[in-house]
Amino acid sequence: MVIVEETIRDVIVIGGGAGGVPAAIRAAQLGGKVALIEPENLGGFCMNKGCVPFGQMMVVSNILERLSLGKELGLSFDGVSKDYAALTKRQDDLINFMRQGVGNTLKKNGIEIIEGKGRIAGKGKVDVNGKIIPCKGIILATGGTWAELDFPGAELEEVVNTDYLLSAKKLPKRLLLWGSSPWLVEIAQFLHRFGSQAILATPEKRILSPETKAVTTRLTKALKDQGVEIKTQTELETATKTKGGLKVTLNSPDSRESVTVDRLIILERKAALKDLGLETIDLDGSRGYLTVNNKMETGVGGVYAIGDLTGLPDRHYSHWASEGGIVAAENAMGKDAAVSPRTITRVLFTQPQVACVGLTPREAKDEGYDILVGAAPCSMNIYGMIISETNGIVEIVAEKGYGEILGVHFVGTGASEIAGQAVLALRMEATLEDLSNVPFPHPSLSESLAEAARDALGRHIYLP
Ligand SMILES: Cc1cc2nc3c(=O)[nH]c(=O)nc-3n(C[C@H](O)[C@H](O)[C@H](O)COP(=O)(O)OP(=O)(O)OC[C@H]3O[C@@H](n4cnc5c(N)ncnc54)[C@H](O)[C@@H]3O)c2cc1C
Repeated sequence: MVIVEETIRDVIVIGGGAGGVPAAIRAAQLGGKVALIEPENLGGFCMNKGCVPFGQMMVVSNILERLSLGKELGLSFDGVSKDYAALTKRQDDLINFMRQGVGNTLKKNGIEIIEGKGRIAGKGKVDVNGKIIPCKGIILATGGTWAELDFPGAELEEVVNTDYLLSAKKLPKRLLLWGSSPWLVEIAQFLHRFGSQAILATPEKRILSPETKAVTTRLTKALKDQGVEIKTQTELETATKTKGGLKVTLNSPDSRESVTVDRLIILERKAALKDLGLETIDLDGSRGYLTVNNKMETGVGGVYAIGDLTGLPDRHYSHWASEGGIVAAENAMGKDAAVSPRTITRVLFTQPQVACVGLTPREAKDEGYDILVGAAPCSMNIYGMIISETNGIVEIVAEKGYGEILGVHFVGTGASEIAGQAVLALRMEATLEDLSNVPFPHPSLSESLAEAARDALGRHIYLP
């Protein structure tokens, strides 16, 4: 017998990850009676298996890299030891602490947390644990799931995804990482710094292929200088078990080669649409993800979708999921809110870091803009010189008429933090004039933002 609850919720959020949690909180702040459904751990992929654990690994990786700067500055670090078990223990403690924090915050906001899998059961109805809960609005926030792999050898135990690294007691000696996800670049650099032999192979022509040439070439050069092996335009042919390890055959346009490793890590994710009951409300999931407008509306009245469930992977960032969540919640509660897709920062926590926001010069031209472009290498910035930042650069793209900033592209130490200033500039529709007159603190790499703006205006001050 199907149980139908009497109490109507204003909003039901299906999925308690990076998007679902802020969505539920915002709807509750607006006075809504809110339920959040989550079958696993609160915080979703980002907190439990993505941003947080790999963020911690990148901190380790960057500390190890900074040792070489320390040496230049007269310090010595003899006998540096690396304890992977200690690192993953801290990761688990940190994630447990964060999960509890999320649970407490949800409860404090009066949100009902339901453990189970949610499924739409028709207009204004959600099925969870065999019970139908009526509601006025539904926010779908189920994120992504691992894609099934389809090549000979995919079923072998040595073929793993990134979750493997989070539970391993120690790291394998030889790893091949394959895929086009930018997160693989970070992970390859971490593994290399921690002492494993890591090969990064991608089907793309270059790593971070959608970004500007200056960004990708500088990052590639830095990685290669550090000793990370990169193979581009590769397709996975087979993986076979041999005495010496896992033999993986890769095809590229002009060669076919085999590498023997201990583990092959593949990062391929797809939208978690399965068993969501989309057919009960005629919601189209045939593209493999849900399409939404800037209000996060799906086209079916009262149903919103956010995060990795929507759009293509270039938008799969935690900050995009949470911005979408807040906007969806406001709209579900009767407000009129919209996201600003141009301000999603595409960020990578490698050393050097990468942070790109807005349009590249090519994208701006394709959109019909007449543009100005400026650049300031960090090697010409005083703080850049102090910290030997030879590879970094800031590039700015602006519209010629009013000088409105359309994009900022940054490679260098601290790019993820400085990008915040660029996001704000884009959000506030700042111009090159505005940015060129900002007295950024000295000495800091952020001064390069102003210099790049001045360069676009043809009046740089510190560049040769
Ligand atoms: C290795 C890696 C590292 C990353 N690092 C970063 C980073 O540093 N910065 C960044 O911005 N992004 C990062 N990302 C991307 C980021 O993790 C995602 O963009 C983000 O988690 C998407 O949020 P979401 O809410 O859409 O999905 P999720 O955070 O995955 O949450 C979805 C939730 O829905 C739940 N769920 C699934 N099905 C159901 C159901 N039927 N009913 C109820 N609940 C359900 C899941 O259990 C999950 O908890 C990384 C990704 C990877 C793969």
